[in-house]
Amino acid sequence: MKNILVTGGLGFIGSETVIALLEKGYQPIIVDDLYNAKLAVLDRIETITHVRPKFYEVDVTDQAKTEKIFQENQIDAVIHFAGYKAVGESVYKPIEYYRNNLDSALVIVDLMRKYGVKNLIFSSSATVYGVPERVPLVETDPVSEATNPYGETKVMIERILKDVYKADPTLNIALLRYFNPIGAHPSGLLGEDPNGIPNNLLPYVSQVAIGKLKCLKVFGNDYPTPDGTGVRDFIHVVDLAEGHVATLKKLEQNPGLVIYNLGTGKGTTVLELVHAFEEANHVKIPYVIAPRREGDVAVNYANCDKAYRELGWKARFTIADACRDAYHFQKMNPNGIQ
Ligand code: UDP
Repeated sequence: MKNILVTGGLGFIGSETVIALLEKGYQPIIVDDLYNAKLAVLDRIETITHVRPKFYEVDVTDQAKTEKIFQENQIDAVIHFAGYKAVGESVYKPIEYYRNNLDSALVIVDLMRKYGVKNLIFSSSATVYGVPERVPLVETDPVSEATNPYGETKVMIERILKDVYKADPTLNIALLRYFNPIGAHPSGLLGEDPNGIPNNLLPYVSQVAIGKLKCLKVFGNDYPTPDGTGVRDFIHVVDLAEGHVATLKKLEQNPGLVIYNLGTGKGTTVLELVHAFEEANHVKIPYVIAPRREGDVAVNYANCDKAYRELGWKARFTIADACRDAYHFQKMNPNGIQ
């Protein structure tokens, strides 16, 4: 396997994965419509790796334009990151979310069939587990109804891909369920670059740290957790990226359809993360306790034994590493990637 089509390859996780692929000698081909990413990310990938990957500015819901990419390149595998991902927004824009996320997945599998591409990695999410009955979550735990349209698109695409696999068992499909990706590339050149006020915890904390936002709101301190705040499995984005490379290696063994949790296996509370950030970066993060955020679960973390057993992969960075890298990125890019 050599040529890897990376949809959404200029995004937060996609760009980091492109770097991991280049480091391991793969040839990533990036397709991104720049809806939620900047072209400057391509320059930064080049600065870091000294390689400028092939790039197509294409929306993968556009089958005709995406087909041209399959015609022009001998693609060995697709890593499909592209998609809308804002939980809150998905609640008031369900049609856009279903159309965009489902269409792009369908275009990709349809073209894979047409061009005989056998290997696919899909960006799924811990959200497919819904409200966990128990933690840590294992891959065999039930996939339940999601609490928002974004999550529902992940549940639906997983189901679609299982059916696609049933119809063609010569395919290799990996469903990777991400927990909470945080951190940034250690160079400070790449990281999470949300539009407007961040929804996710660490980008919000980072913007408070540089004084761009005044005060963090901690959503709820009355959960049944050690300090009352929510527990999540925060994983460094570089670890997550490396998980994709390990998965590609697995796909070379023709495993069929496989599912892996990608997390650290450790739960961290919101306040523990805030304090880790303060300690790692010698800054103070003012916060207030606010009401619970609708749709949040109390505790969510992964059992990642399967990924270690079958992929030989596990997270190697600490929460402190991620906090340091996120702050470094934020300081170097106070107004995002330009
Ligand atoms: N959170 C918070 N304040 C914020 C953003 C997030 O207290 O400004 C909490 C949120 O309630 C959850 C955790 O941080 O318990 C992680 O939230 P995030 O949105 O980053 O990821 P999610 O787990 O929802 O995918």
